Amino acid sequence: MTPAILRSRLEFLARNLWWTWHPEVAELFRELDPTLWKDVRHKPLAFLAHMDDATLSDRSRTFALETRILRAARQMEQDLGGEDTWGATHAGVLNVRPVAYFSAEFGLHESLPIYSGGLGVLAGDHMKASSDLGVPVVGVGLLYRQGYFIQRLDASGWQHEEFAPLNPAELPLEMLRDASGAPLHITVQAGAHPVHAAVWRVRVGRNSILLLDTDIPGNPEVWREITHRLYWGDQSSRIRQELVLGVGGLRALAAAGIRPGVLHLNEGHSAFALLEAIRQELTDNGLTFEEARDRVAAKAVFTTHTPVPAGHDRFPAELLMEHFEPMRAALGISRERFLGLGRVDESDDNETFCMTVLALKLSARANGVSALHGEVSREMWQMLWPGRRAAEVPIGHITNGVHVRSWIAREVLQLAEHRLPAGSARDGSGHALEETLGSISSGALWEVHCVLKSHLIGFVRRRFIAQELRRGADAAATEARAARLLDPHALTLGFARRFATYKRATLLQRDRERLLRLLTNPERPVQMIFAGKAHPKDHGGKELIRDVVELSRDPALEGRVVFVEDYDMHVARLLVQGVDVWVNNPRRPEEACGTSGMKAALNGALNCSIPDGWWLEACDGRNGFSINATGPHADHAMQDARDHEALLSTIEREVVPLFFDRAADGAPQHWISRIRHSLLTLGWRFSAERMLTDYVKHMYLPAARGVSSMTVS
Ligand SMILES: *Cc1c(COP(=O)(O)O)cnc(C)c1O
Repeated sequence: MTPAILRSRLEFLARNLWWTWHPEVAELFRELDPTLWKDVRHKPLAFLAHMDDATLSDRSRTFALETRILRAARQMEQDLGGEDTWGATHAGVLNVRPVAYFSAEFGLHESLPIYSGGLGVLAGDHMKASSDLGVPVVGVGLLYRQGYFIQRLDASGWQHEEFAPLNPAELPLEMLRDASGAPLHITVQAGAHPVHAAVWRVRVGRNSILLLDTDIPGNPEVWREITHRLYWGDQSSRIRQELVLGVGGLRALAAAGIRPGVLHLNEGHSAFALLEAIRQELTDNGLTFEEARDRVAAKAVFTTHTPVPAGHDRFPAELLMEHFEPMRAALGISRERFLGLGRVDESDDNETFCMTVLALKLSARANGVSALHGEVSREMWQMLWPGRRAAEVPIGHITNGVHVRSWIAREVLQLAEHRLPAGSARDGSGHALEETLGSISSGALWEVHCVLKSHLIGFVRRRFIAQELRRGADAAATEARAARLLDPHALTLGFARRFATYKRATLLQRDRERLLRLLTNPERPVQMIFAGKAHPKDHGGKELIRDVVELSRDPALEGRVVFVEDYDMHVARLLVQGVDVWVNNPRRPEEACGTSGMKAALNGALNCSIPDGWWLEACDGRNGFSINATGPHADHAMQDARDHEALLSTIEREVVPLFFDRAADGAPQHWISRIRHSLLTLGWRFSAERMLTDYVKHMYLPAARGVSSMTVS
């Protein structure tokens, strides 16, 4: 085979993120050159740029990779070209006019750092599942040239943020161009200033995401920086980002020749898109404002993610009008009416303009992301529907799910695939996958778990060495400490997510003595792995990180607690695949859903969680551990004290004894039964595939048919 063919097949694979959920492709790159694969930080295009033709062809031959490369490329072609999909059968109407899915962040892979946490990863999983199911969805987002940030901790455990500009040439980013080949730019009006944006396309299997980028010549400097960083800057940068995302996003779709039949807003950041959609209806179809508004609302779907009133995006009226006066004029409505679209009380000039209110007023369909969160949202927004009881507020719920193939360890999937009829994991009914997972023998399940756990421990030790050396630690001493860090036989608890204060990363630490006794019990040792970033402006979150680091340095702990720097999807994957127990103890009901526990469950970890968000509907008493917590409480200190007691006693009385209850062969039989029950009851039900079929049935199809279901005052 010629090197040119090999290279072109590998490039074909590299230009679509399909490879990120088909580990056999990453395996090819790793086998070609493990060091280079690591050095380019898992970016196939960068890898190919660094490998010349002679080396490529030598190594493919030496390691017998040629057939596998061809097979992977053929598999991708088949996967993306197949017409017999779930979507073709159940959502054909979306083929002509697809769903436009707006999100401020997309978590697709660690090499494209345009996400900060669960919201972004959810959006990425939504895109991947829609590709697998053959549901036409076009993502719309922003290309943050400097990403979120790289987390570095100093010697005192304090978080610092570093930025590394991403290089579009090394990523599967394709700039949209016009017929003459020139970059296609869209323009939005920000007050008196026209602002331009380039549009990049990322292919995610069958579907694409359009990412806007204002860092182009011709824009004033302040505007070039607008899309540099995710969730950065003051309110005026924020409103500008949201203007580009919403208004610019809709224009980018038009420029790409896409006419969406459904507008799905993943959180309120993109709600300005609905104003632009109304404006387009007014100019194209000569409707009145009310007619245009109703038409847009009928096809708009809004997913809210924020159960805390203070968490919703709000802008002062002056700031809004400074940017949106031309939009108001184009809509032909008064300033009061315009501002009223984002206010609960249209006539209250003291009320700030809330993006959630805007989205709720202009979308016929809205949902929270778990049953409990739906309920909380109905209560929170009841005032928008005066005269209705909370139960009658038209906000439903679709519980989030995770993309199975992105999060399940290859080793676990292979256990299941041996027993699966060919192709059945791909057809949108994950039941086969889940039932097979549930039928795997205890021995095999435990064996795979132990392998994954030792991968995780190896990874954490290597990371620990790297982070200590970066801080100037002595090499020999660090190696010695790393060798004593974590014990493969200890019960391993994982806690990794954004370090937002409501997630209470240090809840276990409220009683240091009792925690030390738990961790250092010689017969039943317990250890904890932490990871997570605090928002750069969240002082409280940074203090929590410092407290965890401080605990991890307690000499009495002998390497039983570790904080892994720079949490991202790569770290997340290793953690959810290797720990025994996934701990989640948010202040109820502030966790709208939570998804990391679903990833852990797919890999045979057991959840130990406060019954908030998804866990309230997921736990059945036998598929993990539920912490007997209450809430909401007005008094946070009291709630924390009670939850701390409940969490520790669950771990001491239930988790630890069950884990160390060993059969003659050393395997924890009762623990393994629980794992099997967890796989059976949580696998498909909390998958993105199930979530997507729910969105199609309950939201997208009615919206695409323009059926109006809600009347907003
Ligand atoms: C899944 C995931 C999250 C979400 O975690 P929660 O526990 O739901 O907050 C956050 N960050 C990353 C990198 C993830 O993969």
